[in-house]
Amino acid sequence: MSPIRANLQQARHAIDAAIAGCAAPHRHGVTLVAVSKSQPPAAVRAAFDAGQRRFAENYAQEGVAKIAALADLAQQGLEWHFIGPLQSNKAGLVATHFDWVQSVDRLKIAQALSARRRGAPLNVLIEVNISGEASKAGVAPGEALALAAQVARLPQLRVRGLMAIIENVADEAGQRRQFAALRQLYEQGCAQGMAFDTLSMGMSGDFRVAIEEGATLVRLGTAIFGARAPKPTRTAEAA
Ligand SMILES: *Cc1c(COP(=O)(O)O)cnc(C)c1O
Repeated sequence: MSPIRANLQQARHAIDAAIAGCAAPHRHGVTLVAVSKSQPPAAVRAAFDAGQRRFAENYAQEGVAKIAALADLAQQGLEWHFIGPLQSNKAGLVATHFDWVQSVDRLKIAQALSARRRGAPLNVLIEVNISGEASKAGVAPGEALALAAQVARLPQLRVRGLMAIIENVADEAGQRRQFAALRQLYEQGCAQGMAFDTLSMGMSGDFRVAIEEGATLVRLGTAIFGARAPKPTRTAEAA
């Protein structure tokens, strides 16, 4: 069995085990998105052949090149998520080629995406800076639901929920606190009548905890594809 196929099988089992570990009233489905940044198209194809359908990219040009190389799979149900930092000058590329954008964190970028989107509305998540780290993208938790409400009024976007990348802490209690804070915000949004159905939190190192805290979507890179090459420099991406 190929390593990617074996990794996917293992990840799906771990996800199922984490779901089963949730108390019955809180049990919920979990979508696995395979993060393919820095991986070649052949790795995505191998995962697709092993049944994986949803993939995510962090950099617009790298992602669009891969989407083009794998265009034959789009007809067979492959779905692309954009999860990286968004620049206004890339909004057209992203709005045209991706099915989801998980990293919407300001109204201006949402307006640019909506203006450039043709056809079916783009699914979006509001990225929240749940840890408050200065280095992190994402809207402040206190402003997230107001932003979600504004974005929901844009014609070509469909707000599906919230996303966060938590602060990388080693202790499970610290991870749990951050995931729980995002879930609370998500539930608050639902209570206010937002049509949320997606809570994207959890990566390779912490997805079990994220699922126990209510994640409905986890983003796994290294757990599926193995270690990544160093990420492209800003200048390479800007070129
Ligand atoms: C790279 C990345 C992931 C995947 O990280 P792993 O630790 O490799 O699972 C998930 N989410 C975002 C936003 C990422 O940039």
